[in-house]
Amino acid sequence: MSGARTGACPACGHHVAVDFFDGGEQPLATIAWPGNAEEARAMPRLPLDFVQCVNCTHIHNAAFDYAHVPYSSKPNRMFNSGAAWSAFMRGLVERILARVPAIPVVVEVGHGDASLLAALAQLRPGGRYIGFDPHGATGGREGIELRAELFDPPGHVAALAPDIVVARHVLEHLESPLSFLQSIAFAAAAAGRDVPAYFEVPCVDRLQETGRTADLYYEHSSQFTTRSFTAMLEACGARIDSLAHAYDREVVTAFVSLRAPAGHCEAARAAGQYRASARESRSAIARQLEALAGDPGGVAIWGGTGKSAAFMNRYGCDATRFPVVVDSDRSKVGTFVPGTGQEIRFRDWLKDHPARTLIVPPQWRAADIVREIRREGIGASRILIEHGGALVDFLAGEHPYQRPEEPA
Ligand SMILES: [Zn+2]
Repeated sequence: MSGARTGACPACGHHVAVDFFDGGEQPLATIAWPGNAEEARAMPRLPLDFVQCVNCTHIHNAAFDYAHVPYSSKPNRMFNSGAAWSAFMRGLVERILARVPAIPVVVEVGHGDASLLAALAQLRPGGRYIGFDPHGATGGREGIELRAELFDPPGHVAALAPDIVVARHVLEHLESPLSFLQSIAFAAAAAGRDVPAYFEVPCVDRLQETGRTADLYYEHSSQFTTRSFTAMLEACGARIDSLAHAYDREVVTAFVSLRAPAGHCEAARAAGQYRASARESRSAIARQLEALAGDPGGVAIWGGTGKSAAFMNRYGCDATRFPVVVDSDRSKVGTFVPGTGQEIRFRDWLKDHPARTLIVPPQWRAADIVREIRREGIGASRILIEHGGALVDFLAGEHPYQRPEEPA
């Protein structure tokens, strides 16, 4: 298939897309606000290189760069004053209020002029109506908190326990709307509750049906189809309560419930345990190494690259206390251990310079190495491997790695 591209789809995360629309180069179309004709004509041209995800049909500009979009200094002027829009908004307010408790906590991501929060607060006073928008309206109104900051799911879901999170015409401006939704879902699971949400984005189903192209400009770098919007919701494990179109199918909306599977929390807990135990083992093993460094019987480390180099750097096996590093791979001999600087010697060096203790960082190779040293008549009486947060005796200690006596 010609025109195939790789790169993560903003909506579904799939990595194969195909060429969709080559729009050449155009200036920013909506948020630059040039002050006069000359300034307008001199605006920099930016590439429109739209691709379509083969998995979910999402359309995005592969050449898009946020650095060219000055949201901070030039606000996105959007007025919700059209008659049809107002009717839609009235209906939306009712639908939101029907889904939240009598005293609700409503979070709106990208509140803009805050008219939706104001309407909700007016009809259902007493709740908390919190808007997050670095470039939106500021200042307090009765019952409304407007924060000039980004919504941060891990902190804000736990702290605010929202009854609903609303994001209208926001997801299509995010570099990765999928990651935003997944982080809300994960925060919900971590908080042990569902987070209901309402999302609304422009829909370009008719773009392909009709062959029109004017939707595809620089600021609109990410364009949802009904299929890609649904794929995004499915990819974050959302339960879709209702999916609907508005404005003659130019907008797609959904009420959903977000909560990542319990397995994600289990994975996070296990990661935390690994992290904590790795931190503990670092000092425990460093103490063991400190004791070994003074061993008059001698200590050698087997292997000078890869896992062995990682081990030495992790646990501070410096070249002064642990000068002897050997390897059975002749191609590594004469090179130096990255970071710590020991010269790597061939394993036969141990025949003339015996070491009582051999440290073998790659545990899974220890059985082979024991066979090798026995075959070669290298006399190390103790082989140590890292296991369970300590250095343990490979031949006599408890560990899950195969011993040399066992069949391969
Ligand atoms: Zn996709």
